[in-house]
Amino acid sequence: MSYRIEAATKEEWAERALSGEKKLADLKDSIKELFSLLDATEETDEGQGCECGAYGEHECGCGADWTPREVYELRDEVTVLRKALNDIINGVQH
Ligand SMILES: [Zn+2]
Repeated sequence: MSYRIEAATKEEWAERALSGEKKLADLKDSIKELFSLLDATEETDEGQGCECGAYGEHECGCGADWTPREVYELRDEVTVLRKALNDIINGVQH
């Protein structure tokens, strides 16, 4: 009796570990994509609202926001992915 319960639990665990691994792989892909997007946006600083005619953030003296909008969006995505990663890690450990 107890053996059958244990066996089912083991199967369940294996399934859980497998789905966790798959989620983790998906997450890794998402994070890789995220980093490549961040790299791409770093080269396209917009300098929105810059009034001093600077060519880059370091030259700017008027305090304009040189962070591309995409970076804010990607940061939000990082938060979501980090939470997903935590859920997976916790799910695997419990
Ligand atoms: Zn400026």
